Amino acid sequence: MSILDILNDRQREAAKQIEGPVLILAGAGSGKTKTITHRIAYMIKELGISPYNILAVTFTNKAAKEMKERVEFLAGEDGKRVMLSTFHSFALRLLRIFGDRLGYSSNFTIYDVDDQKKVIKDIIKSIGRKDDKNLKERDIASKISKAKEDKITPEEFESLHQYDNGKIVAEIYRRYNSVLKNNNAMDFSDILVNADKLLDLKDILSKVQEKFIYIMVDEYQDTNKIQYEIVNKIASKYRNLCVVGDENQSIYGFRGANIENILNFEKDYKDAKVVKLEENYRSTSVILDAANAVIKNNKSSKDKNLWTNRGTGEKIIIEECNDAREEAQYVAMEIIKGKATGKRYRDFTILYRTNAQSRMFEEKFLRENIPYKIFGTVSFYQRIEIKDIIGYLSVINNTDDNLNLNRILNVPKRKIGDKTFEKIENFAKDQNISIFEAIGRAHEIGDLSANLKTTLLDFYNMLKDFIILSEQMPVSELYDEIVKKIGYKDYLTSSYDDYENRIENIEELKNSIVELEKVLENMTLRDYLENVSLISATDDLDGEKDYVKLMTIHNSKGLEFPVVFLVGAEDELFPGAKAEFDPKEEEEERRLCYVAITRAEDKLYITYANSRFMYGQIDNFRSQSRFIREIPTQLVMTNKAEVKPKPAIRNSYDNSGFKKMITIDDLNKRAKDFPYSKGEKVLHKKFGMGIVKDVNDKKVTINFVDGTKEIAMAVADKFLTKA
Ligand code: ATP
Ligand code: MG
Repeated sequence: MSILDILNDRQREAAKQIEGPVLILAGAGSGKTKTITHRIAYMIKELGISPYNILAVTFTNKAAKEMKERVEFLAGEDGKRVMLSTFHSFALRLLRIFGDRLGYSSNFTIYDVDDQKKVIKDIIKSIGRKDDKNLKERDIASKISKAKEDKITPEEFESLHQYDNGKIVAEIYRRYNSVLKNNNAMDFSDILVNADKLLDLKDILSKVQEKFIYIMVDEYQDTNKIQYEIVNKIASKYRNLCVVGDENQSIYGFRGANIENILNFEKDYKDAKVVKLEENYRSTSVILDAANAVIKNNKSSKDKNLWTNRGTGEKIIIEECNDAREEAQYVAMEIIKGKATGKRYRDFTILYRTNAQSRMFEEKFLRENIPYKIFGTVSFYQRIEIKDIIGYLSVINNTDDNLNLNRILNVPKRKIGDKTFEKIENFAKDQNISIFEAIGRAHEIGDLSANLKTTLLDFYNMLKDFIILSEQMPVSELYDEIVKKIGYKDYLTSSYDDYENRIENIEELKNSIVELEKVLENMTLRDYLENVSLISATDDLDGEKDYVKLMTIHNSKGLEFPVVFLVGAEDELFPGAKAEFDPKEEEEERRLCYVAITRAEDKLYITYANSRFMYGQIDNFRSQSRFIREIPTQLVMTNKAEVKPKPAIRNSYDNSGFKKMITIDDLNKRAKDFPYSKGEKVLHKKFGMGIVKDVNDKKVTINFVDGTKEIAMAVADKFLTKA
């Protein structure tokens, strides 16, 4: 009996080839990931290779977690010792050990996108460009990240981008780097870039090469330049590199993923053993045929003869809905029906193109008491109250983290304003000390009131105490100490109308800390912060619970689900509007569609709506995604009897071929259909859920989480829908 017995011949062949480069190139559901997990277990259990010498990387935390569980199941305790992780957590591990060589101390903080934006905002302000509409923080943040991951320095950026803003963006990029360095902080790109830099240091590279003798990479088609270099530098010595992937599933082009990496593998490693897998074990033939039919329309797609033994299966259901609300209603009803016939909630997964689409489903499920979980919205960690507490923890871990220091200095209110912060900053500069140390020497700062000095000193001493506590107690207890000591709940109560909600959130944060402590023995504050920063996408602490899953297609990569609803299948949403003009973009979106369809094991629903809020207004003229039209009709069942009559205006194009613009008449007509009434729940494009407090013919007053807002009737319809 061998661990590899369960694999088919080709898979076994690939799993057995341990020495030298191996490429497994195969379509969705053909057992690529399964081959890797069995290969690892086989190496440990049957070849006696030390698990410490094995490195396996993949893309999402969820995928890494599933692979880990698999390997542990097959190889027992030894399985736990394999370094099986995402690129980011692997890189982070290297940096914690060797980061000092690049001038970071090992307690560095990781900045998320919001933190990046804040840093950029401050820089824009400091260079006197606050009112420059062309400088958008998010935009600049992603330009900087992309530049970093493409290994472009600020100087190179400047010469590459000679247009108006290029010079300024380069300047912001330069300053941004120095702020982060000064704060002993890294952003997500830095994690990869710096790990790659470490590997340029001969002694480190050689240590890493001697440790990770066998390397495997799942989803290789989505590696970008930096990830490619990290892997190939380490592999260059022993060349025991096994990569698996499917060029039809490359969906991270927008983040710099480079399909060429997988296509060039045979050039990079001339002696590579190439294995192609052709049997799909996941899906019914209806689903597989649909996926193949769609991807065939990509010029770049190579023919693959994927077949399945799983039988024909049920036809794909395509459902046309009048609007997004009806779409959510339809999905909810199908789930309820499915439940009545013995399915569990967890058999159902909803996949969408953009995160924003989840809200309508969330509302509906709450109303229908359908348990659900949305994966991939990091929004919980972006809430103010969560950021505040994490801010305290970050400063306790790394007192150089000026961004978080600035955030918490006046939370709860201590009457320390921006002016005071500036004075502290200047003093720190003069004395060449950190801002934190400057706060500790507040009595030496001129031009501060005696009261302020005492406040600052108290704050400093309190943090010093927290630092000592952090070394003595688990994070959950430290959390309690902080919340109690700063009177955070009282602060929330007195500062926010919706304080109950916020208190619930920070209690939920505490629960999550306790949960993590159960999983990670002796979790230090640093471990905890690391975990929080890497939480992304499909993290899931309570795996087996029975709920409907919702996620973007991107996050569903590598996963499989019995029943899939692919929702919002409309042109200009999926594929997105950019695809209209850019064939490359269209091809990437089509690959995304291929990924979505191939997630389904038994049953696939595809839904679209004739009318939807897009870019702040209603679009009544939406049309079915071109991808739907690429699915052969014999694979599809449309519930014609249930299809509602189409609104006459649907799909009307003017002579130019462009869609008709929405007219005031349309809006008025729509407004009549939507008489807001007091006490009613509504959904606002920007402010989210709210309750109508008052309404007259001029305006509607609504309580939102962030406060009460008045919205003029004339435009209300552009922004509001009934929830
Ligand atoms: P994707 O391209 O979506 O990442 P994949 O090629 O990695 O897919 P896996 O997830 O490894 O495919 O496998 C798909 C399903 O097929 C899994 O449920 C797996 O257990 C099953 N499977 C793979 N190979 C075999 C096999 N030889 N015998 C039985 N089941 C298999
Ligand atoms: Mg896979």
